[in-house]
Amino acid sequence: MDVREALSVISKEDLEILYALEKYSNRYEFVPLEVLEKSTRLPLHVLERSLYKLNSLKIIKRQSASFLGYRLTIVAYDVLAIVSLMKKGYLDKLGEKLGVGKESDVYLGITPSGKEVAVKFHRVGRTSFRHVARHRSYKLESSWLLQSKVSAQREFAALRELSSVGAKVPEPIARSRHVVVTELIKGAVELSEKPPLKDPLKAFQDVIETIDKAYNEVGIVHGDLSEYNVIVNPETSEAYVIDWPQYVERDHPRAKELLRRDVDYVVKFFRKTYSIPVETEEVYEAIVKR
Ligand code: ADP
Ligand code: MN
Repeated sequence: MDVREALSVISKEDLEILYALEKYSNRYEFVPLEVLEKSTRLPLHVLERSLYKLNSLKIIKRQSASFLGYRLTIVAYDVLAIVSLMKKGYLDKLGEKLGVGKESDVYLGITPSGKEVAVKFHRVGRTSFRHVARHRSYKLESSWLLQSKVSAQREFAALRELSSVGAKVPEPIARSRHVVVTELIKGAVELSEKPPLKDPLKAFQDVIETIDKAYNEVGIVHGDLSEYNVIVNPETSEAYVIDWPQYVERDHPRAKELLRRDVDYVVKFFRKTYSIPVETEEVYEAIVKR
């Protein structure tokens, strides 16, 4: 069950239960039935019917060992974030999946005025999470939720500062929990696909300018830059740097090392793929000496 399917089967009562489970998630690993009853004020038969449905759809998880209790799953957290973004008027619909990254799912979103946006679900530790034993899943999953939220907060904050200095990044629009909504870069493909470009030098300069502004005007280093985190519009040769949650501050002990590595990946890629005659050292020096 993914978030779109979940959204299509969730009733008002179901949603009340998800809110209550989220509210008490700090206090209980599994929220006891009585607590849900008091908190939601739903009649017991309505509550039980909803819980049964949500549990069989794997939107929530039940434990019945020492007492009957429930907790959210990742899909439920997705639903809460999307419903909140919808209520606040940032989103009307969730469309097709645009990309699956290492640590995210990115969907197309439609705003109430019909504009297309990008909706990124942060999924920290997803790859390692898949390999762990089932009985250990709660602690991992709950810290997974928290870490995903922190990752979204970091990315949103970075994008805000980067946009405000005119760096070429998707403009941030809103965030809820572990989900970030940004401007959709239309017609863009990952640089790793090596699309033919009319003006590869322009794309290269866009990326270097963003690295430069990030370092000198915002005071951060991307730290995971490569052809996989640059998207480019082949029509205009405009390039955007995406995927910022792991950025480090300029005064971080490894900042310069990471900056050099970021620059090196970009320089090497453009040299090899688009025959742009550039050297890492001169580009790096120009940035740190500005
Ligand atoms: P991950 O951490 O999963 O690598 P990214 O932020 O790199 O997440 O996004 C994954 C993919 O989703 C990108 O490679 C790109 O294809 C697509 N994508 C992300 N943001 C946007 C956007 N604003 N506009 C268009 N496509 C995007
Ligand atoms: Mn990425």
